[in-house]
Amino acid sequence: MKKSLGLVAHDEKKQLLADWCLAHKDKLSSLDLYSTGTTGKKIIDHTGLELTRLESGPLGGDAQLGAMIAEKRLDGLIFFIDGLAAMPHDVDVKALIRLATIYDVPFACNRSTANAVLELF
Ligand code: PGA
Repeated sequence: MKKSLGLVAHDEKKQLLADWCLAHKDKLSSLDLYSTGTTGKKIIDHTGLELTRLESGPLGGDAQLGAMIAEKRLDGLIFFIDGLAAMPHDVDVKALIRLATIYDVPFACNRSTANAVLELF
């Protein structure tokens, strides 16, 4: 069975994640990819990768990824966080990180850890 990977980026980090996805397109195309709505559109437009777009993060997409983790349907999470901006949906962001921690899901919040997490796939 294909492994699954969640891809999320806050607005200021979306281009960084799209570029990272393009650089790792071959490997990523072998995985089942799930993304929050706006991030997913950016990745598709930039890379042509196929992925499942969930709701936008602030409208429940982060919570959907958290639910996937709790149901053991997500094998890893790449979440490029903007550490310099306040987020109205901070509780959802924290909940997602918390579930990734509890369920011991490989989780990367920046490019160098994303490279390390991708080595596991
Ligand atoms: P978005 O959500 O991809 O819909 O912008 C990401 C987020 O959680 O901010």
